[in-house]
Amino acid sequence: MPSHSTPPDSNLEILRQLAFDQSIRWSSLNDDIWRSLDNELWELTHNPCLVLNVISEQKLNVLLADSHFHARVTSVVKTHRSILAQPTWFEREQADTDLHQVAYFSMEYMLSEALPIYSGGLGNVAGDQLKAASDLGVPVVAVGMLWQHGYFRQEIGIQGDQQALYPVNDTRQLPVEPLLRPDGSLLRLAVQLTGLTVWVRGWQATVGHNKLLLLDCNDPANPSPMRLITAELYGGDAEMRLRQEMVLGIGGWRLLEAAGYTPDVCHLNDGHAAFAVLERARSYMQANKVGFDIAMTATRAGNVFTTHTPVEAGFDRFPPELISKYLGRYVETELGQPLSAILALGRQNAGDAQEPFNMAFLAARCAGAVNAVSRLHGATSRHIFQNLFPRWPSDAVPIGHVTNGVHLPTWVSLEAEAHWQVLHGGDLPWRGTSESQVSELLGQVDDGYLWRFREQARTLLFEFVRTNLARSEAIHGASLEAIESAGALFDPRVLTLGFARRFATYKRPNLLLQDPDRLLRILNHPTRPVQLLIAGKAHPADIVGQQMIRDWHAFIRRPEVNGRVAFLEDYDMRVARHLVQGVDVWVNTPRRPWEASGTSGMKVLANGGLNLSQLDGWWAEACAEEVGWGIGDGAEHADDYDSVDATQLYTLLEDQVLPAFYERDAEGIPKQWIKRMRCSMGTLVAQFSADRAVREYTQRYYLSAASAYRARMANESKLAAQLTRMREELNARWGNIRFLQLQMQRQAGRYSVTLYLDLAGLTPDHLRVQLYAEGPSGGDAEVQDMVIDSAVLPDGVLIYRADMPDNRPAEAYTARVITNVSSGLIVPLESNLIAWQK
Ligand SMILES: *Cc1c(COP(=O)(O)O)cnc(C)c1O
Repeated sequence: MPSHSTPPDSNLEILRQLAFDQSIRWSSLNDDIWRSLDNELWELTHNPCLVLNVISEQKLNVLLADSHFHARVTSVVKTHRSILAQPTWFEREQADTDLHQVAYFSMEYMLSEALPIYSGGLGNVAGDQLKAASDLGVPVVAVGMLWQHGYFRQEIGIQGDQQALYPVNDTRQLPVEPLLRPDGSLLRLAVQLTGLTVWVRGWQATVGHNKLLLLDCNDPANPSPMRLITAELYGGDAEMRLRQEMVLGIGGWRLLEAAGYTPDVCHLNDGHAAFAVLERARSYMQANKVGFDIAMTATRAGNVFTTHTPVEAGFDRFPPELISKYLGRYVETELGQPLSAILALGRQNAGDAQEPFNMAFLAARCAGAVNAVSRLHGATSRHIFQNLFPRWPSDAVPIGHVTNGVHLPTWVSLEAEAHWQVLHGGDLPWRGTSESQVSELLGQVDDGYLWRFREQARTLLFEFVRTNLARSEAIHGASLEAIESAGALFDPRVLTLGFARRFATYKRPNLLLQDPDRLLRILNHPTRPVQLLIAGKAHPADIVGQQMIRDWHAFIRRPEVNGRVAFLEDYDMRVARHLVQGVDVWVNTPRRPWEASGTSGMKVLANGGLNLSQLDGWWAEACAEEVGWGIGDGAEHADDYDSVDATQLYTLLEDQVLPAFYERDAEGIPKQWIKRMRCSMGTLVAQFSADRAVREYTQRYYLSAASAYRARMANESKLAAQLTRMREELNARWGNIRFLQLQMQRQAGRYSVTLYLDLAGLTPDHLRVQLYAEGPSGGDAEVQDMVIDSAVLPDGVLIYRADMPDNRPAEAYTARVITNVSSGLIVPLESNLIAWQK
């Protein structure tokens, strides 16, 4: 795709290709080549493209004439190419499947500092999984937005007031290349928004084997408000958000096709991009000459939706008038549907004209599979999507979970990486790492080695912290003395806690401040002191979050703190990387169950850090006494419980964390601490890796989605047409199903059950008749399938029978009818009909 005049094998072009491939940054072991070009710029930006852009050709030629540097570049290129050429997990284990191409949609991607088009957690999940997909060879093409300003950058004023700044992302300095048409012209697409043609341009970033396509509305042909659609991530009002989501979903699917991709699976990372399912269906209608319903039946099977919020308020909703204004024409002329039919897809109650349009409902109704991002979030999600499955027991709401994971090469420190490489004897152990491999590697080193590694990491962290604080002081016009002494009171030998996250109320970033005197006593313990590093942004509209930043700011300025706490401005990938690599303990205090998964705590694992966190999200799955510390009792509580959690947090620090860190043996080694480190690394690193998460997505979701989609599409959409008819028939007759009589005869310790049923003319093969009993005291429900008897009574009455143990009273059972999965429909996601006897 890139069209450069330089011959591909010139030295400059080789360096360029390295600089433009995100995967070059997955090993810090080749940072030296960028450092040689411009050490300072590299240190400040970690952006290889920029470093390459800034250097003069003359200097580059001088460098390349140096045989040492030339050999370094050659060897890095060779390694990089050989890594990409290695047979992948997907090629080895999933070859000959129906899965050819996954399209992955996300509003944000956190790939590197060089491409600031992310805000936080959601982008982290997208970025890390895209990287892992490349490592594993899973064919993913990602779609996102080229944000001109990205998310806001944070500065904290003298009084602790957060300033939101919006520096411009200059495409010439980003690792992206314009998408071109085969004739070399710029790829520009026309998307209609309320009678206006909006031009959308395409860019692409290279992520190892895979590409990330980016949409950009900053085309001079667009009216100014439309150019700003891709200006600010999570900025603007509802109307702006709707425009953004139309560009991402509808424009995104078109961009994929224009760039030559024909995905069989469409994975929606959150509901923002849900309009992609409509555009996918539209494209299918056109290509296969079928109507919307059949197109939706065919493509639905190939759509996977990952939900990320644990609260209903987290869903994106739009007033119906806005949907009508923006999508009315598209729906009627392109999809051939009445607007009401499409509005119904985004509503709980199709008939409620007032109900807003919910993007998560649209995504769920048009997906063949839905998943949450941790086990606990799965349970929470089954509750918040319950209303889409009226009268289904909540544990049957079809939402599974794939717990998030992090891309280890991205988050592990240079030093840790070098240690692991020496231990592993060459190639890095991150690809396809299993728990036993990590434990085995750990078994080869003694406690002293691990401890020195931690001490070194903490020392490096404070070098970064001091430079960073000095820069902040200078930005604020502090005196030279203040700049030079910034962070001077930190002691790299002292136990260091890290606390960095979005300053949102539910994350309770001020929980540690509940009892400031107690916190001061902990920080200033005469023999067991503690240091604390904090970072995080509050959304510019979040007044409460910004007040919490002020509270920390005021606390930090108290003389009694003795310089033991610092707030690092502008929490981003760079700050995160240094923190997770250097801190001893990562603290997270969300209000359960609001942290869907959380990933920051996973980033400390491979660096030898430990977690002290609320039993929420991933930590509710991971926490055990041997690996770290959990706050909370594993239940949900109201706000007034905060002080209980805070007290527990302080007590854990005082009674467990500090002693474990400061009790040393004769060699000065904290044996207990190291034991936890070994256990945390050995058991959690592989489990909470993006590698594991992407393998799970592939095996549990992508492969079956691709097969189902292909089966429905085959032979001119034959199956899709059949299923569409079947669904219509089920919907039309369902209300007439009648339970006539249920007889349960008890004999010799068993029930002999007979049910007389009028199926309203529906084909028995398409249905499943069951006996259902709620689980005793909240346990699993009991479900027993009934078998049809060959006898048919007059008036189409059918007889169903079952034979089962009589260990529950007969009244515990009720009969029900649902759609049979063997019909080919996805139950209950695609057919949520359920009839109960009582
Ligand atoms: C990892 C990361 C996040 C997500 O962390 P949470 O655990 O969800 O709070 C957010 N922002 C940055 C900069 C990160 O690196």
